[in-house]
Amino acid sequence: METISKIKKIGWGFGLCNMNCEHCYNSSGMKESIPRYSFGELIIVADKICPHIRDINFGTGELACNPNAMELIRYIATKYPHVDIAITSNGYTITQMTPVDIKRNLNDVDISIDFPDSERHNSFRRHGEAWNWAIRSLEILRDVRLQRTITMCLTDQVELEDMLKMLRLADKYEACLRINWYRKTGRGSKNLQISAEKAWSVIEFLADKAVFSSLDSIFAGPLGVKSQPCPAGNFSARIHQDMNVTAYPFLKGKMWTAGNILDSHTSMNDIYNSVSFRKLRNRSIPRCQDCAFKSTCGGGCVTRAALHNNGILEIDDYCPVYYQQMTVVDRLRGKIIVHKQGNLVHDGYLCTTILKPHEGV
Ligand code: SF4
Ligand code: SF4
Repeated sequence: METISKIKKIGWGFGLCNMNCEHCYNSSGMKESIPRYSFGELIIVADKICPHIRDINFGTGELACNPNAMELIRYIATKYPHVDIAITSNGYTITQMTPVDIKRNLNDVDISIDFPDSERHNSFRRHGEAWNWAIRSLEILRDVRLQRTITMCLTDQVELEDMLKMLRLADKYEACLRINWYRKTGRGSKNLQISAEKAWSVIEFLADKAVFSSLDSIFAGPLGVKSQPCPAGNFSARIHQDMNVTAYPFLKGKMWTAGNILDSHTSMNDIYNSVSFRKLRNRSIPRCQDCAFKSTCGGGCVTRAALHNNGILEIDDYCPVYYQQMTVVDRLRGKIIVHKQGNLVHDGYLCTTILKPHEGV
């Protein structure tokens, strides 16, 4: 029997982008093969999804590089005021918007910065303006007083001293810091992946320097702090550049696809009831059955299990039980402060860590 969709959060990504980042999970760029959509096609999709959802994030590629995408935002903001809109940007899009458009149409913005200095950031993103655009957009967002987050993709190239500088950068712009723990897919290579030991060393390093707004369940469950287990297939979905929908930005291809949202026969209920979404909702991991954290950790992020460990019935890379990190967990218990910061669209959309640095960190 068909169940009414419980998807409340949508991420929508277009493929055209003016950067060529080493780690891009979408392999975005300015290729001819990337689809371009008419305004009419975009609003068919908007009218299908917006009555059912609470918020939407536009990210990957860069919004302003994609035809009609800026008009789409204005359309959704006007016709569906109950939908909070966020953008994840390399900075360029924000520099192309008027302050009035930013303030009127957006709920919050994530600005991607992967390293705390211009040389490494520009080199990783293979673009000479990457740092300047990111900093300029943080200034604009601070001026118009819009909720803002610096989003970093945490790879093995990032050291703890970089984390401290990232916290200071976020503090300077009165922004949150969001950590997207690197997943190996798209253009990214295996040597960017981080180990459980490194992931837990980052959490321990941050513990006394920030308030956590949300924490991936693989950390939160064992630490005994509140979090939401992996939302894939439950509350969020992702529209990819070809309009195929999967449960997660990092999961693409036939195996994960629930349908094409531009297809007039595909509804939100069809997506929610698809084989791929049901499979994720029914995930039950043999190795977690006797774990004390089973109900709160839930095996961690399904994408790390699928992309790095051979399938959704495997565990997350950062499992502290199987990867010998319980001494860190024991040291950290009771030391993590969790307090929600604003109403950020990424909170609950995917397994991610959002924090607010202590002032003057
Ligand atoms: S990571 Fe973002 S900015 Fe970089 S190429 Fe991909 S879409 Fe563009
Ligand atoms: S065994 Fe499973 S439930 Fe327990 S901490 Fe590891 S991933 Fe989480």
